[in-house]
Amino acid sequence: MSYAEIIMATLKGIAGDNVSKYKYKLISQKESSAKYGLCEVCGKFVSEVFHQIESRKYEDGYTYAGCKDYFGHKECLESKQR
Ligand SMILES: [Zn+2]
Repeated sequence: MSYAEIIMATLKGIAGDNVSKYKYKLISQKESSAKYGLCEVCGKFVSEVFHQIESRKYEDGYTYAGCKDYFGHKECLESKQR
């Protein structure tokens, strides 16, 4: 094994342990709860509603199966990330 190969194997090992198999996309709806409803996490009014789309690593790509989408405060959505 060359030096470069050892480095790559080490990096792969680190990534494999630390990288979440979930991926998140946060999109601002640029509108408040008046249009999108209350925060789905805390149930309170939101002045700028965010939509969080969760996807999960599956084989070589990502899937939305078994994943949850939420609307609400950015902080609340981030607290739901796993
Ligand atoms: Zn909230």
